[in-house]
Amino acid sequence: MATATKSQIGAWVETPGPQAHITIRDDLPIPSPSSGEVLIKLECTGVCHSDVYGILGQTRMTTHIAGHEGIGQIIETGSNVSPYLLGRRVGYRWLYNYCGDCEICSKNVTYCPNQTNPGRNVAGTFQQYIVSSVKPLTFIPDALDSRLAAPLLCAGITIYSAIAKLRLRAGEWLLLPGAGGGLGHLGIQIAHRLGIKVIAIDTGEPKRKLCIDLGATCFLDYKTDDIVVSVKKLTKEYGVHGAICLANSQAGYAQALSLVRNLGTLVCVGLGMDDLPISPFQLIIRGINVIGSSVGTEKEMDELLDMAARGDIKPIIEVFDFSDLDEVLQRLQKNEISGRAVVTLPV
Ligand SMILES: [Zn+2]
Ligand SMILES: [Zn+2]
Repeated sequence: MATATKSQIGAWVETPGPQAHITIRDDLPIPSPSSGEVLIKLECTGVCHSDVYGILGQTRMTTHIAGHEGIGQIIETGSNVSPYLLGRRVGYRWLYNYCGDCEICSKNVTYCPNQTNPGRNVAGTFQQYIVSSVKPLTFIPDALDSRLAAPLLCAGITIYSAIAKLRLRAGEWLLLPGAGGGLGHLGIQIAHRLGIKVIAIDTGEPKRKLCIDLGATCFLDYKTDDIVVSVKKLTKEYGVHGAICLANSQAGYAQALSLVRNLGTLVCVGLGMDDLPISPFQLIIRGINVIGSSVGTEKEMDELLDMAARGDIKPIIEVFDFSDLDEVLQRLQKNEISGRAVVTLPV
């Protein structure tokens, strides 16, 4: 195999930790596909907040390459793989593999305790080439631009699945703090298509315009509006039917919990490390459901890609060169990226 002897460019993390950073290397080996595997030449990859957490050692990372929103083309097939897959455009995403045999998998594979994830315990997408078995790959519809498809593989599927878990009906209220960010701006569009009324919370005139343009029913500025008073007023004093907390702060969770109505649901998505600021007593008397959500199923992924291919939702992206990846990661840490950052890999 000709490619086996060549090397490739990738972003290397020697040891994850508070002082860790990436080094762009051009001497990484190009792997060869084994039986049942394919070799993918990556075209672009999204950059996710959880990449930053992994690199900085806040979550466990046992590989040297981060990244889990990769789009590329199958350029080589191993044995026992249909040669017709050559040239197909695929997505390589967070839920790389799951056992499929355990009691958890029988209910929802995204919570499999035996799963593997790119950038966590297998090499991620911040490199030009990657091998993969066929099963976890997501086939990308022709109508969808690769750079727009990339953010759907983690940000998109995460918010899509979180909305699904709320089981809201058309006309019910969804509270979305952080609505102008990478997940939030997709959440507004998805919820709007489902007829759900979105209260978007963020700050500043550009975010207000963005959220309203994407279909939010109303926008509240957390710096200038009294959120509690406004939400109560909009919801006949009951609070919202569902909330998705995208923030990782305890304050963000406290606010979302205070604004969910009795019998309402909170879906936790922001990777907060503190305890939930609510007592069992409050949960009991208010009958609130709290659900943790991580990415989503293959079926949800396909539904989301269909939505995007039809033009029902459109990710807002900022595209960067691979050589700027370190800067992108730093800006992401400071919440300075609007929409989602996508990095194109060297050809
Ligand atoms: Zn992610
Ligand atoms: Zn399993």
